[in-house]
Amino acid sequence: MKQPLHTIFQPIILLLAVSCFLTLCLSCNSNAEATPLRPAITHPVNAAHVTAEVKHQDGLSVVDPLTVMHHQQVPILCYHQIRDWSPSDSKTAKDYIVPVEKFREQMKALAASGYHTILPDQLYDYLVKGTALPSKPILLTFDDTRAEQFTIAREEMNRYGFKGVYFIMTVSLGRPGYMTKEEVKQLSYEGNVIGSHTWNHSNVKNYTAKDWPLQIDKPSQQLENIIGKPIEYFAYPFGLWNKAAIEQLKERHFKAAFQLSEKRDENDPMFTIRRIIVPGEWSTSTLQRWMANSF
Ligand SMILES: [Zn+2]
Repeated sequence: MKQPLHTIFQPIILLLAVSCFLTLCLSCNSNAEATPLRPAITHPVNAAHVTAEVKHQDGLSVVDPLTVMHHQQVPILCYHQIRDWSPSDSKTAKDYIVPVEKFREQMKALAASGYHTILPDQLYDYLVKGTALPSKPILLTFDDTRAEQFTIAREEMNRYGFKGVYFIMTVSLGRPGYMTKEEVKQLSYEGNVIGSHTWNHSNVKNYTAKDWPLQIDKPSQQLENIIGKPIEYFAYPFGLWNKAAIEQLKERHFKAAFQLSEKRDENDPMFTIRRIIVPGEWSTSTLQRWMANSF
C-alpha cells in the first residue's frame, strides 16, 4: 500500500526545519563571539584609524608627521623644584619653584576635575597609532633629578593614583638635594617612567661629536643599569633642540623627545613634544586655564 505523500515529506520537512534552526543559532553565536570589544574613545581622536608608523625593511620605523600633527595635543606639565620659597629666591627662580602646598592643591584640583595621568608609551600610541586615551588625559613630567620629586611629589601623586615621568640628569644622582639611584629605581618599580635629561644638563645645540657618547649614550646605559628597562624618552635641557640633536636621538632609538612650549617641528613632532612649566605663582585655576589654552 502506497504511503500518502504528506507522511513521506513530514520527516524531511522536520529535518530541514531543525537544521535551519541549528544553523541560525550557530551563526548568532559566532556573530556574538566575533563582535570585538572596542575600548571607548573618550578623547577627541580625528585620525583614530590612521597609523603614522611606517615599518621599514631594516626594522626601523618612521613616523608620518602629518598624522601626528593632526591629533589634538595632550596637556603636559613640567615641574622642577617643589619646595617653599626662601627670601633669597629671585622672581625668575620662583618660576621653577612650586611651593609644597601649591603642588598639593594642584594635584588635588586635577584629580577633582577628573584628569587621568598617562605615560609616554600611551602618548606615543595615541599620536602615532590613534590608540584611545582615558578621559581628560594629562602627562606630569619632572626634570633635573630633584630630591623632593621623590619625597613630596611622589607621595602626593600616590593619593590620586597619578604616575609621572622623571627626566634624570645623571651627574647629580646621589648628590645632596637630588635623588639617589635607589629612589630612581623605586620610581620605575612603582610604574613611573624614567627618561634621560643628559649627563650634566648642557645645551644639545652646542654638542660636538665627542659629546653624544658622554651626554646621551653613557647616561642611558647608567639609567638602564639602575632600572633594568630601556630608556626611550628624552627631555632637552632648557627645552632647547635642533635638527642635529633630533637625528642623533633617532639613531639611538629614542621614541620621542620633549621640549618646552615652543612650536613643534612639523617634520619631527614626536621629537619636539610641547610641555608647559608650572610657575610657582600659579593658582590652580590659572594652571587649568593655561592647560586649556596651550594645548
Ligand atoms: Zn632641566
